[in-house]
Amino acid sequence: MNFDIDPADLAFREEVRTFVRENLPPEMAARTLRNYHFLRDDQREWTRILNKKGWSGQNWPQEWGGTGWTPIRQFIFEDECFMAGAPPIDTAGFKMIGPVIMNFGSAALKQEFGPKILNGDVFWGQGFSEPNAGSDLGSLRTTAVRDGDDYVINGQKIWTSYVETAEMIFVLVKTDPEAKQRGISMVLVDKNAPGVTIRPIIDIGECHTLNEVFFDNVRTPVRYLVGEEGKGWTYAKYLLDMERAFSAEWPRNKRYLAQLRALAGCARSNGRRLIDAPGFAARLAQLEIDLQALEWLTLRALYERKGGTTLPVGSLLKVRGSELLQKIGEMQVEALGDHAAYFYADPRDQAVSDVGWPPGPAYAPGIVADYMYRRATTIYGGANEVQRTIIAKTFLEL
Ligand SMILES: Cc1cc2nc3c(=O)[nH]c(=O)nc-3n(C[C@H](O)[C@H](O)[C@H](O)COP(=O)(O)OP(=O)(O)OC[C@H]3O[C@@H](n4cnc5c(N)ncnc54)[C@H](O)[C@@H]3O)c2cc1C
Repeated sequence: MNFDIDPADLAFREEVRTFVRENLPPEMAARTLRNYHFLRDDQREWTRILNKKGWSGQNWPQEWGGTGWTPIRQFIFEDECFMAGAPPIDTAGFKMIGPVIMNFGSAALKQEFGPKILNGDVFWGQGFSEPNAGSDLGSLRTTAVRDGDDYVINGQKIWTSYVETAEMIFVLVKTDPEAKQRGISMVLVDKNAPGVTIRPIIDIGECHTLNEVFFDNVRTPVRYLVGEEGKGWTYAKYLLDMERAFSAEWPRNKRYLAQLRALAGCARSNGRRLIDAPGFAARLAQLEIDLQALEWLTLRALYERKGGTTLPVGSLLKVRGSELLQKIGEMQVEALGDHAAYFYADPRDQAVSDVGWPPGPAYAPGIVADYMYRRATTIYGGANEVQRTIIAKTFLEL
């Protein structure tokens, strides 16, 4: 891998920066920079703005309607968007189910969903985890039984993120309850189909992005089977590796570290700025080094994946990125000092907006609620303990 930055890529960065400056609505950026969960309407609007320019499928090849950008350009693009406060693109659509459909799905599925994902017309929930099947996904119990031209689905999923504002769910089901992993298939389900019930789970930061999803004799057409029956486990592994790589969230790490630097430049501790306290500054410098290492690891992973690597790059990135995010969050909370005693719930929540926030610095809201939510980064996308075992087995050959 060549670490020299091509001048053409530098020019590309300028082009992206200008585009984002001219097209990202400022009020949308202000909302996103607060670190609360993104709004689906913002995500939809931003996806459409990008799609008009032909830039929504940044990680998709041109034959799928994507940009066909090199890994370094995808990296630059994500960096510029995130730092400017653009809402994230729908990772479930663009980085999880989209590539699965495009690689393994029927021509009809590709035709139906490719353009809708690119234009932000369809958003997705990931229906994998169940109350007794998280790390051990192979134990899932939700069934899909063939009945004429439909599958009839029964069972329960849990922790289904953002499904409350999605249109579709990709669901792992057992089409052969006797077989373990070979009995698993992946089907697409309309979130509003009769028999689908969604129950919110309110997280520790008092936000609603998590859900339980119940399937009670839900019918989905057989044409919504992804690939072949019984191959769902293979597709899920492919998808999970991408999810883990995404869970490294290096652009989020980068922005949060920049916010931490700004915070430490304002906050006072014993009459001086926190950033001037040697102990704090040394720990901050260590995080900067960790971030640089994560950036290079991410780039390397993008290139390795292109070359069809067998390395568990997703697991490596997931462990490093999620732990860094938590460390940055801890220092942000430390830098907030007394203001971290109050968590400033999401102002878009009606119940909260009536009560309002206590007085405090403008930079405080968003930090504690996000810090609390990010305790989950070492769990979602596959618990880090499990990722360490994958790394030990496949990379270190232990
Ligand atoms: C905020 C959040 C969002 C999520 N979003 C989604 C989503 O959109 N869709 C979805 O399908 N799922 C989602 N999940 C679920 C997530 O994938 C699971 O929580 C995760 O895989 C762990 O499974 P579990 O919760 O059942 O914990 P368990 O599997 O019960 O594990 C609990 C703990 O036990 C330990 N452990 C378990 N097995 C092993 C092992 N083999 N080796 C070593 N240690 C082990 C680990 O420490 C682990 O953290 C989300 C979870 C969270 C917290």
